[in-house]
Amino acid sequence: MTEVAHDDLTHWRAMLSSLPIPAALVDGDGVLLDANRWLEATPGERLVGREVDDASPGLAVGHDGVSRWRVRRLRTDGSVRLATGEREDTGDHLVRRFFSTGDSLFVVYDQWGRIVESNSAWEQMLGYNHDEVFGLDSWTLLPPDDQETRATVEQDLRDHGRAEPTFWMRTKRGEYRLVRWALHFDGTVGRCFGIGRDITEEARLRNELEHRAYHDMLTGLPNRAALLGHLQDSLDRGAAPVVLFCDLDHFKVVNDSLGHGSGDALLSAIAERIANLDAVTAALFGRLGGDEFVVVFDDANVDTGIAAADAIIDALRVPFVVDGRWLHVGVSIGIAATADDPTADELLTHADTAAYEAKKDRNRWVVFDSTLREAVARRFNVEAGIRTALDENRFEVRYQPIVRLPSTDVIGAEALVRWRRADGSLASPGEFIDVAEETGLLHRIGEGVTRDALAFAAEMAAAHGNFVISLNFTAREIARGHFANSLIDAVAEAGVNPANVLVEITESVVLRTDSSVVDVLAQLRASGIRIALDDFGTGFSSLSHLRELPIDVVKVDRSFVSDVVTDPVTAAMTRSLIELCLALERDVIIEGIETTTQALEIHKMGGVLAQGYRFHRPMPAQDLASLLSPIGRAQAA
Ligand code: C2E
Ligand code: MG
Ligand code: MG
Repeated sequence: MTEVAHDDLTHWRAMLSSLPIPAALVDGDGVLLDANRWLEATPGERLVGREVDDASPGLAVGHDGVSRWRVRRLRTDGSVRLATGEREDTGDHLVRRFFSTGDSLFVVYDQWGRIVESNSAWEQMLGYNHDEVFGLDSWTLLPPDDQETRATVEQDLRDHGRAEPTFWMRTKRGEYRLVRWALHFDGTVGRCFGIGRDITEEARLRNELEHRAYHDMLTGLPNRAALLGHLQDSLDRGAAPVVLFCDLDHFKVVNDSLGHGSGDALLSAIAERIANLDAVTAALFGRLGGDEFVVVFDDANVDTGIAAADAIIDALRVPFVVDGRWLHVGVSIGIAATADDPTADELLTHADTAAYEAKKDRNRWVVFDSTLREAVARRFNVEAGIRTALDENRFEVRYQPIVRLPSTDVIGAEALVRWRRADGSLASPGEFIDVAEETGLLHRIGEGVTRDALAFAAEMAAAHGNFVISLNFTAREIARGHFANSLIDAVAEAGVNPANVLVEITESVVLRTDSSVVDVLAQLRASGIRIALDDFGTGFSSLSHLRELPIDVVKVDRSFVSDVVTDPVTAAMTRSLIELCLALERDVIIEGIETTTQALEIHKMGGVLAQGYRFHRPMPAQDLASLLSPIGRAQAA
């Protein structure tokens, strides 16, 4: 015990001599034990008034009744105290008061890092009493594993007299606070002065914001910004990154039918499963949003990407269990590797394009290559062309007459769109409809066609009585909001009898799972408009559809017609098909009749309405108008 006490005293005496102000060690009664060179007093002399002393921390009046002392307990029992002289004339106490207010941290320590002075903000942050800090080795407040900070700070102070470090400090309770310091070392007095700011909260917020900026909230995976940044870094380094764009198949169905909660749970489960794949560990795996995930290999070749794609597809073959249900999700993956100096954005777009291609067959991968590149270029050019053509009104309508057999009288026409290109040439729908559909521009084209065709139909009906007008629409056009109402209104405005309007759709449209399309069709039929099933016999046609679907007319695809004369099986099928439709009270239009023999054959089978080059090619409105005029009819006869 005495040993320890002796040791404290030596330590405190050393500190005393380093203080640049009058200072003394006093005992519990304020009697001087030792003084430094700035103080003229003899041991044994009563220095500090005892009664005032207990108001620690703070100023005490000296025993002489004049001097002022700042007294701190060095031993907890109060048997050794440090008294430092407060000189009224230098304003030291004003400086101290200034620093004691506000939340800036203020600290003064000697050249060994021992604390001489500190303000209450500093003490509060670290959880120390004013009494406890004097002489405390400030370096012991650094985290145990932070050896570097002390070395660099001391070096800076030695070389430049100042340092602006930011470091973690351990509080008395063992927590850590991050503090940014401005330190200044004054060599003449051997003191280091520091003003600091506790930036723990600020840093935490910044980290959180940063995390949010670069992470997907649902899965915690890196987000688009992070993935693109990473990709760009790798490109900038001259590496050869490989990007996988993974688009889940049928995810929308899960989300729509089971709700967003299950959708989110499924996405998280998928994310976790992919993230844990060996083939993906070397890469950055993130989520773009929705059901799109991306894998970025920093520097790899396409084979690595393919191996990862195979692993991902395989991993997702095993169903997921979400909310007690077994869910199967497939994935379509596009792979893009560096070529032609792409930017991160371009590379991601390439992978996206390849995924789009993969999607046509689902659960497979496609590598972005020159063919796809050309397809993209074409799509891009076509899209630009469509936009200008829309602005410049360069879409035209051709009318292909629908005739009755055997007379070949024209009972109406199908409106078919054409695009008048800038160079004057005429493009068929096959050259642009897909792009118009993908880019969401088709409905604008369709509105123009509908308007022109209805006006023309009204004109023809006025001149010749009944005139059927047939219009083509894709699923996307029909699924757009207000489709039915706008069409019904347009028909009424044009003054066309709804029963003479045919809406042509393909089977895939009616078979779409979402009920919205079926509702639209029902609404149209309720207004009197009739629905025709186009291109029947292609794709996944089923005879039962003829009975079940809400349709009035069946248009038999021309693939039947081309073989009807040469192939007995096709002939038999066509005959049964026509008979079935008639039995179900559906009108039948046979498409694509090119020869007289075909026309005769079809007529024998009972098909009464027909379209085809044998009768008329699609033609401009005036041509059809003059064809139907009395003179035209006489000439045709
Ligand atoms: P579709 O509705 O099956 O139209 C029939 C297509 O067959 C037309 O091609 C027509 O010119 C062609 N065709 C008619 N008779 C014969 C024939 O005897 N032999 C041969 N080989 N072909 C014949 P087109 O005009 O190129 O239209 C292609 C497709 O584009 C149409 O197929 C239709 O699905 C779509 N389409 C046309 N106009 C529009 C439109 O305004 N909106 C929408 N959504 N689709 C349209
Ligand atoms: Mg059609
Ligand atoms: Mg057709």
